[in-house]
Formats: sequence, structure tokens, C-alpha cells
Amino acid sequence: MTTTLTRPTCTIKGCTRNRKAKGLCNNHYQQLRRAGRVTAPEKDTHCSVDGCTNTRTARGYCLGHYTNWKRTGNPEHAPVQQLSRDELVYLRRLVGLPDTGPTAEQIARWRAEETADGLGVAS
Ligand SMILES: [Zn+2]
Ligand SMILES: [Zn+2]
Repeated sequence: MTTTLTRPTCTIKGCTRNRKAKGLCNNHYQQLRRAGRVTAPEKDTHCSVDGCTNTRTARGYCLGHYTNWKRTGNPEHAPVQQLSRDELVYLRRLVGLPDTGPTAEQIARWRAEETADGLGVAS
């Protein structure tokens, strides 16, 4: 299910990103403002996701967007929020876990408890 939005694209020949300002996509607009010039799309090493200024890694996407694309088929799929280690440690302490996280034995026990409660069988 893809929704095709007919938004105007960047005026740079070959660039298919959405137009953001002055007839340019965000990447080209930023390039113009920073460097006073724009690079042709074939020399553009930026991720092809609109607004993403990361360096292209594979298939025209940066590593994060490429990973999204590989996992979900949608490069713009919201990346999984990664908690910082400090946040994780805080949460672990909150529920009485060691800083290094639940042990395999604890996880196994929780799974058993959840199944017993019917919480683990949510469809
Ligand atoms: Zn562009
Ligand atoms: Zn990207």
C-alpha cells in the first residue's frame, strides 16, 4: 500500500526529492546555502530520503534508512528508539534488575509468568 503524493520535486535535473525551498529539495537547498553550489545527483553522496543529510551507504540510502528499507520496505519507517545505557540501567533498577539486565533465567521465569497470566498470548 503506497500512497503516491504528487508533490513537486527538486528542480535539479535527475533529483527526485521533494521540493522544499527555492525550487530545491532540502539537501540541494542546504548545499547551496553552505557551499554556494549544488552537486549533480549522480555525485550526490547524500541519502536519498528527503531531508536526510547522512552519507549514502547502500542503495542510495544512509545506513539507518537502508536498514529500515531492508526490514520494512520503507526507508522512512521510523527508526527504533534506542534507549541510552543510563536510561536502561535506570529502568532496570526500577524493576529490581541488575545493571546488566535480566538474566536468561529471569527472562525464562517472566515468560512463564506471562503465559500463566495470559499476557504472553496477546495476538
Ligand atoms: Zn535536489
Ligand atoms: Zn538517510
